[in-house]
Amino acid sequence: MGMVEFPLIGMNGNSFIMTLLPIARPDFDVEICIAYASSENFTGHAIYKRPGCYLHEDASKLLSRAIDLAKPLGLRFKIFDAFRPAEAQWVLWNHTPDPDFLSDPRRGSPHSMGVAIDLTLIDSSGDELDMGTGFDDFTPQAHHGALDITVEGQRNRAVLLDLMTAAGWDFFQNEWWHYQMFDARARYPILSDKVLDEPMMLDDI
Ligand SMILES: [Zn+2]
Repeated sequence: MGMVEFPLIGMNGNSFIMTLLPIARPDFDVEICIAYASSENFTGHAIYKRPGCYLHEDASKLLSRAIDLAKPLGLRFKIFDAFRPAEAQWVLWNHTPDPDFLSDPRRGSPHSMGVAIDLTLIDSSGDELDMGTGFDDFTPQAHHGALDITVEGQRNRAVLLDLMTAAGWDFFQNEWWHYQMFDARARYPILSDKVLDEPMMLDDI
């Protein structure tokens, strides 16, 4: 898979790995639709062997806050990716080494620290709101502030941006679906698939 060495795991003491929490109902009222656990992603291939959804406990608190803010609006979140093992970042990067849309794995993605999340909003029927583009659409139309998308898409992105930033998340200019904790790289280490009790990475990629 063309992997080279990277600053692996980076345990802050021995207790760090215990802080990755599974994101699931009933504790988190969200839909889980992990894109990289199926071929429904920009690589056309599954990267994970199971749809694991984990966040660092610090990030999980911000997600809980966002869930609470969305609920009175009749909205919930659908999550496409959360913790992404460092090994998976290499697979994505080797497929599309574009720093406008992916973090160079040597620098590390906040996803690989468990403090980033890709998500959209769904209505009470579970249908995704129009966001102007799909998830992982690596085009300028996916940028915040894009005006060449539907007005409905602009409005829904604004709602998502408001809910997430009000809950304490930082946004990424080039991807309407991506949110991460502030100063992630200064505060959290890059984590390998090996920190999970049950690995997520497929063996044969
Ligand atoms: Zn992301």
